[in-house]
Amino acid sequence: MPHLAEVTIDQIHEAGGRIVIEARSGRDRAACPDCGTESGRVHGRYRRQLGDTALAGRPVVIRLLVRRMLCLRAGCARATFVEQIPGLTSPHSRYSPPLRKALTAIGVALAGRPGARLARRLGMPVAHPTRRCSRQLSRIARRRRPRP
Ligand SMILES: [Zn+2]
Repeated sequence: MPHLAEVTIDQIHEAGGRIVIEARSGRDRAACPDCGTESGRVHGRYRRQLGDTALAGRPVVIRLLVRRMLCLRAGCARATFVEQIPGLTSPHSRYSPPLRKALTAIGVALAGRPGARLARRLGMPVAHPTRRCSRQLSRIARRRRPRP
């Protein structure tokens, strides 16, 4: 699971039929996205949830303890920032990179509601399994189809 290489896994358990991976960053410091200055000063923490690819047909959720850091560079316009985990998170993403890749493949092959149904059957957690997922898969499929 290379997308989990940069995190420390605290616990893996089952809840509500899903496999839950409790994890946190394995690094002490994070770089400010505006000025690049590394900071180890934590302003706060919260849990963020990412869907991941299924394990043995069972949905997987990564519950990541995320830190909001203080930028220490005088003059940087960004006072605080949320750390990103290389290879795992990007701002506002709700899916791990492997799950995003799998959903993209399903979206290209099937799109719409059939794609959403297949993703659900394969144990891929989607936030809103009907309309939102269908729209997302359709959008991905439109982008990937070659134009005539
Ligand atoms: Zn900064």
